[in-house]
Amino acid sequence: MNRRTFRLCCYAAATICLLIGIISFFLGRPHLGVDLSVGAVTFIITYASSRRRRKNSMPAENPIVKKIEPASVTKIDGKLIVKCAKCGGDTVFDQPYAYHAGFSDSGFMYSDSGHFTLTWNPNDPAMKAFKGMDAYPSVAHCFPPKEKSEQELDIKMRRSFEHALPPAPDGTRWRFENPARCIHCSEPIAGSMFQTVYYLVYPGSISTDLTGGIKLSEYLKPEMTANS
Ligand SMILES: [Zn+2]
Repeated sequence: MNRRTFRLCCYAAATICLLIGIISFFLGRPHLGVDLSVGAVTFIITYASSRRRRKNSMPAENPIVKKIEPASVTKIDGKLIVKCAKCGGDTVFDQPYAYHAGFSDSGFMYSDSGHFTLTWNPNDPAMKAFKGMDAYPSVAHCFPPKEKSEQELDIKMRRSFEHALPPAPDGTRWRFENPARCIHCSEPIAGSMFQTVYYLVYPGSISTDLTGGIKLSEYLKPEMTANS
């Protein structure tokens, strides 16, 4: 079910409640009628205004590039296959679908090559060494800072975290702004954390948010761990 269908279902359910409320009122059940009607109207008003707030919180001017669309995405045997719009090559991910950063509560970024993914949990104790980053939302693109001073602080915060990270497995640097790239021609195939909440995990990536895997404190540069 896509977002529009879900929204329509919510409105339809609220409308049905409102109608039942009105009918109940005329059938001699005034208390039930008032409860249902007021509940339905309150829901519609609240839901509509929260939608407006969400819309307003989306970045008006995305400083990165336009949304990236791969040629196609298919799912076969628990794997996700992204076909590059430029070269037609397939990049295969060992995941059944694109993970949602908000639902999994994971921050993510790609290497400069765009061929590796780093994930972390914003609530990881090691994040406390980076002022503000422990409260940095995993769905950062939904909450862009509005004021210039906040934007500068935002960038400073992100750079401090990036500089504390060792290079990616292929020697390139991790950066928040990096998109995911086709493994054949390096054309972008999925957006950075500022463009999408969905992320892809390349083979050999660093996942510090998984139980039993490497911890963020173990992955950070030794001097950062010593300071934390
Ligand atoms: Zn390609």
